[in-house]
Amino acid sequence: MNKACALGLGASFTDLPKSNQKTHKIQRSAGRETLVTRATDVKKEAQRRAPLEKSNLFNAKYVPFSTSTSDPNEQYSLDEVIYRSKNGGLLDVQHDMEALSIYPPEYWKALFDERVGKTSWPYGSGVWSKKEWVLPGIANEDIVSMFEGNSNLFWAERFGKELGMEELWVKQCGNSHTGSFKDLGMTVLVSQVNRLRKMGKPLLAVGCASTGDTSAALSAYAAAAAIPSIVFLPAEKISLAQLVQPIANGALVLSIDTDFDGCMRLIREVTAELPIYLANSLNSMRLEGQKTAAIEICQQFDWEVPEWVIIPGGNLGNVYAFFKGFQMCKELGLTDRVPRMVVAQAQNANPLYRAYKAGFENYEPMRAEDTFASAIQIGDPVSIDRAMYALSECDGIVEEASEEELMDAAARADMTGMFNCPHTGVALAALIKLRESGTIAPSDRTVVISTAHGLKFTGSKIAYHSKEIEGFASTYANPPVQVQEDFGKVMDILSQKLDV
Ligand SMILES: *Cc1c(COP(=O)(O)O)cnc(C)c1O
Repeated sequence: MNKACALGLGASFTDLPKSNQKTHKIQRSAGRETLVTRATDVKKEAQRRAPLEKSNLFNAKYVPFSTSTSDPNEQYSLDEVIYRSKNGGLLDVQHDMEALSIYPPEYWKALFDERVGKTSWPYGSGVWSKKEWVLPGIANEDIVSMFEGNSNLFWAERFGKELGMEELWVKQCGNSHTGSFKDLGMTVLVSQVNRLRKMGKPLLAVGCASTGDTSAALSAYAAAAAIPSIVFLPAEKISLAQLVQPIANGALVLSIDTDFDGCMRLIREVTAELPIYLANSLNSMRLEGQKTAAIEICQQFDWEVPEWVIIPGGNLGNVYAFFKGFQMCKELGLTDRVPRMVVAQAQNANPLYRAYKAGFENYEPMRAEDTFASAIQIGDPVSIDRAMYALSECDGIVEEASEEELMDAAARADMTGMFNCPHTGVALAALIKLRESGTIAPSDRTVVISTAHGLKFTGSKIAYHSKEIEGFASTYANPPVQVQEDFGKVMDILSQKLDV
């Protein structure tokens, strides 16, 4: 934390324009002042500090994701309500990298390190601690944040050893406000909607179709900002814990008798008719928040880049977001390369895996079958192009896991102290396969992205441990032992189990 001071920032900025040096010093002393500010004044304080910010130096805009088929001059302000480019393709948020690169890597490292673990609004958030790289133009008082991010990255020593690895790490993105990494994107999107509404744009509400976690995050952040939210959920395809979240947060919940892809089609039609802001991962704003998890990983390793990052993928926005985060660190000189990424898919919903096997030549959407990894049960991923681009840029690979493999992997890793959701199970199953094939070497530093909290998926875990899942051996099941209230019987079981 005191690294900023230790680095002697002033000294390392001799090559910067004078004005920049000055602004930086003012900002640092202002940061100290906020430490004595009362909680009730946090937003006022942010407003008071606003003129000292350098955010007006930086800016970002929407551009078409792929310029090969579109007008190279096409661009839009982030204040426009727009989801697709003129030719119907995806949009991308593009930052003014030239402006950001005025500052040397040491500046950014020190600035980001300095903000970790603070309460200064909004920089105590893991997302907004990278505000200049995320959404530089927004006023701090318009930000809707629950201090998301800053999730722990832990050394999975015992499970790593079981797989013959020295450096297995798990990034716990699910240790978050609503229990999944979706919070990282939603704080950015809802902040922007908040700004647009304050600017007088007629946005009645914000809506999404969801496999569960998106709606939980959306409804929480919308509720925090008093913005109405509407969620379309596939009936009986999400966990009870996921369903209860938007209900509790006061969202209008439509439970629709279809799958995720069906919900997605419907919400697109609805948002074309009504002034409801669409919060799906089609929306590139969310990816700006999600990419901070990748920046955070570099930061947590003192700006060393791991060899591998394994990430479960459904709609495939997150893999591109991670790539963007790693790429930005590299481009601005904080790191020297990007890691190789692995997208892990459930075999029952594996369109990217199939395309990968065909050399990314012919991608075909598919009908996704049921999977315990319900948040990635997607047959026609919105961000397929983003994912294929990211993977080809980082020499990435795609793996798949059967239902039994993903549940076994989650349960096996749980036995070493983790508590994995089925999606993290998909990533862990991919890891096991890549270790067995030798693709990942024993000394490769590898990060598994845990995307949700295991407590959101207790139903399937209980079914596994009760050996209730048809066709499963449930190899790592650990069912509770039923016993009467009787000392002798309890002792019998203990002596049998403890071998005494
Ligand atoms: C949304 C989600 C994913 C998939 O992320 P994509 O960006 O759609 O690939 C994976 N795991 C969990 C728990 C999720 O909520």
